[in-house]
Amino acid sequence: MRGLTHFEIRACALALLAYGLVVPLVPAAAPEHPVAEVAGPGPVLALPDLVAPAVAVPQVLDEVVGAPPLVRTVALTFDDGPDPRWTPQVLDLLARHGAVATFCVLGENAERHPELLTEIVEAGMRLCDHSRTHDVDPAAPRDGLAHDELVDLSGAEVDWFRAPRGEWSESLQVAAGAEGMRPLGWSVDSRDWTRPGAGAIVAGVQRHLHPGAVVLMHDGGGDRGQTVEALEQLLPWLAAQCYTTGFPDGG
Ligand SMILES: [Zn+2]
Repeated sequence: MRGLTHFEIRACALALLAYGLVVPLVPAAAPEHPVAEVAGPGPVLALPDLVAPAVAVPQVLDEVVGAPPLVRTVALTFDDGPDPRWTPQVLDLLARHGAVATFCVLGENAERHPELLTEIVEAGMRLCDHSRTHDVDPAAPRDGLAHDELVDLSGAEVDWFRAPRGEWSESLQVAAGAEGMRPLGWSVDSRDWTRPGAGAIVAGVQRHLHPGAVVLMHDGGGDRGQTVEALEQLLPWLAAQCYTTGFPDGG
């Protein structure tokens, strides 16, 4: 899980304070003269002491760091790549926002673009096997896995498997498990694959997002311009909502 920057922690703490979700360590004293008085001919206002209450920001930060409201993680996942047009754009956006994601790649695409696989891993992202060709024969599921070639090509661990189209069978789960991979589903489908427009993708994710969400998006399998545009809007929004990006196992 990427840590929040100091600025983000401060922003999140202040935002939570503003919404009354965190009780300041030093409560603001009630003003002694809350009502303005008019005295003499001119409007002389007897205002309460307007010095800011002693809300010691560092103390408040110590209090809220690690508290449940701030620990909100989302795992972004990108399927069907790597793609020479879209994957670098996604990586660039993630890097610019200090975010991480898991890339559910196809073996055939990885073979065509091993340099992209390297780029993904070197950027600190993780790999997930999404099958060799986006099609697995239930009678011979092991042949459809790309695990070994992904490990060979990237030199990285591949701990996850995501079934093409989410079509899991028992034999496929067993085959993936035999390669040491865990099944990776999703809890929020961005529906970017329907290409509804970047705004609709963003709104859909915002509507369904929850702490611990695994968000399904795509960096391959077609024109992903809308996905890239949506991601550009979502990443700053996530930070503003005090979400940090992580991997599906919470790491
Ligand atoms: Zn897919």
